[in-house]
Amino acid sequence: MRRKIVAGNWKMNTTPAEGAELLKGVAALKSTIPADVELIVGVPFTHICCVKDAAAAAGIAVSAQNCADHESGAYTGEVSAKMIASLGAKYVILGHSERREYYGETSQTLNKKMALAYEQGLAPIYCVGEKLDEREAGKHFDVVRRQIEEVVFHLTPEQFGKMVIAYEPVWAIGTGKTATAEQAQEIHAFIRKVLAEKFGAAAADQTPILYGGSCKPGNAAEIFSKTDVDGGLIGGASLVAADFIAIAKAF
Ligand code: PEP
Repeated sequence: MRRKIVAGNWKMNTTPAEGAELLKGVAALKSTIPADVELIVGVPFTHICCVKDAAAAAGIAVSAQNCADHESGAYTGEVSAKMIASLGAKYVILGHSERREYYGETSQTLNKKMALAYEQGLAPIYCVGEKLDEREAGKHFDVVRRQIEEVVFHLTPEQFGKMVIAYEPVWAIGTGKTATAEQAQEIHAFIRKVLAEKFGAAAADQTPILYGGSCKPGNAAEIFSKTDVDGGLIGGASLVAADFIAIAKAF
């Protein structure tokens, strides 16, 4: 049985006090979701301290949304993997399309971040996904394969065993346009096949692959019903506790 995960990506939303309230709302409803569904909240760096105790008490894991590509030193404005891990976060989202697009993150940058995250015991939630023109040109399989080969294939089997993958078609993120359940299944199965080429079928079969992109309470059940979809990375809907929880109940 693969792990089932619903992870929120709060992005650059909420003040720390509002984030603490949001976490409280999620924690209050957590007992209503199936016991085998793991909840993760991907919060801004400034919020980790404010949510970590309540999250731990409720059995909710905390994730950062990024980390620096250097260990420490003169990198003004950056936040290291060590800082994040020392606050008690367990995960870090890496390779989100907004980071790739607005901050020029390449596979080379991501390889450095991955290495530092693993050194600090953080488990990466690694995002892959194609843009609209790439999907329309039928290149989505090639794009996703490259994003995996250039980053995930550099991991050791032990590191790979801790990774969570999120397939997030860029055209579905924050657009209200979601991939169909069939489209999600097709590419999740493809991702698993690519992972199996490098790490073997058994390891690939254990890897949680989440779907992200306008996932909401109304469409989560259909998407999560697919064999190779192990949950979701949720942006907008994770900012409303009841919606986030409703998605976690959708398995
Ligand atoms: C995301 O950015 O990870 C995401 C899935 O966003 P949304 O759910 O808002 O499309």
